[in-house]
Amino acid sequence: MDHPAPRHAYVHVPFCRHRCGYCDFALVAGRDDLLDRYLAALDRELMRLAAPLVFDTLYLGGGTPSHLGAAGLGRLWGLFADRLVPAAGAEVTLEANPCDVTAELVAAAADQGVTRVSLGAQSLDATTLRVLDRDHAPDDVRRAVGLLRSAGLAVNVDLMTAAPGQSLAAVVADLDAVAALDCQHVSVYCLTWEKGTAFESQRRRGTLAPVDEGLERAMFEAAIDALTAAGFAHYEVSNFARPGHRCRHNEAYWDCRPWEAFGPSAARLLGNTRTTNHRSPTTWMNRVLAGADATGDVEAMTAEEAARERIVVGLRRRDGLGRAAFREASGFELDALAGGPIARWVAAGLATDDGSWVRLTRAGLLVSDSLWGDVLG
Ligand code: SF4
Repeated sequence: MDHPAPRHAYVHVPFCRHRCGYCDFALVAGRDDLLDRYLAALDRELMRLAAPLVFDTLYLGGGTPSHLGAAGLGRLWGLFADRLVPAAGAEVTLEANPCDVTAELVAAAADQGVTRVSLGAQSLDATTLRVLDRDHAPDDVRRAVGLLRSAGLAVNVDLMTAAPGQSLAAVVADLDAVAALDCQHVSVYCLTWEKGTAFESQRRRGTLAPVDEGLERAMFEAAIDALTAAGFAHYEVSNFARPGHRCRHNEAYWDCRPWEAFGPSAARLLGNTRTTNHRSPTTWMNRVLAGADATGDVEAMTAEEAARERIVVGLRRRDGLGRAAFREASGFELDALAGGPIARWVAAGLATDDGSWVRLTRAGLLVSDSLWGDVLG
């Protein structure tokens, strides 16, 4: 092993009740009959670990891990047993659909060591939720937050902007409603129109239309203003946290620390190699259970490619990128790889550079996705 042992793990749970129109994640909807097969395959994949993985962070994403219910979570943790082992003070995140959050589920999650729950709320407005094809109501979110907080769990709320037909006023109302919840973390994402989704085919037929780019940007700025005014620190392009509540799991990704990942479409990073499991849940299950290779993609990066990727994830963070830390972690000088683009961004008001740290400005954050090509080449 030419890299430190991973201290972070991701498990993909590919089950949902129904597929939301905008979603292209790796999952099966309405196929709970596959649960036994999934758990058997996960059990088999966990055997890849030569030794127990002692984790600082574990993230259960999907799909909708909460769809497993209290009994399913118990079975899942039964598989982790002595293979995924929490270090003292470990952060364990469970993604949940607000509808699934019952007192029984919350008790089971807390019992298994879950410390934070990420709620796929998306909006607290009934019309927006209907447009987004979600199966929960605003009150389900409020009720879920109450149950989770009374069990002492930290709560992240995922919020979506730029839903078809959504106005800036509706986004501002959503932000106010989220700020009034007792949540510790908010992730704000702009709707993206992915190939193969129901939304994308409706867009092509002309029955759904994206909001225009200027409005999309105004929505993002409104999110920054409202959430920072409500006491959340904006610490990464899409993420906001109350003090002490940053998502440590995502911070490990952004530090390019090694991590393990299990389940369909799950991607692990060990050294400079990113290995992604087959995307299709059924193909992944069939291959794993047949003892065949369930790899979908292997990206073996050179040290320089990995360093360039480190620049991008570093600059997405509001703390920015420190030259000394970058040199130490990557073995490269930041300016040798990105000195030209950084100077251009500073001149254009998109970044600041004090000689030690480079940070994107708000103007830079708003167009960040268009900057990375200059670094990745
Ligand atoms: S609940 Fe989440 S993961 Fe499931 S289909 Fe909807 S958006 Fe996708």
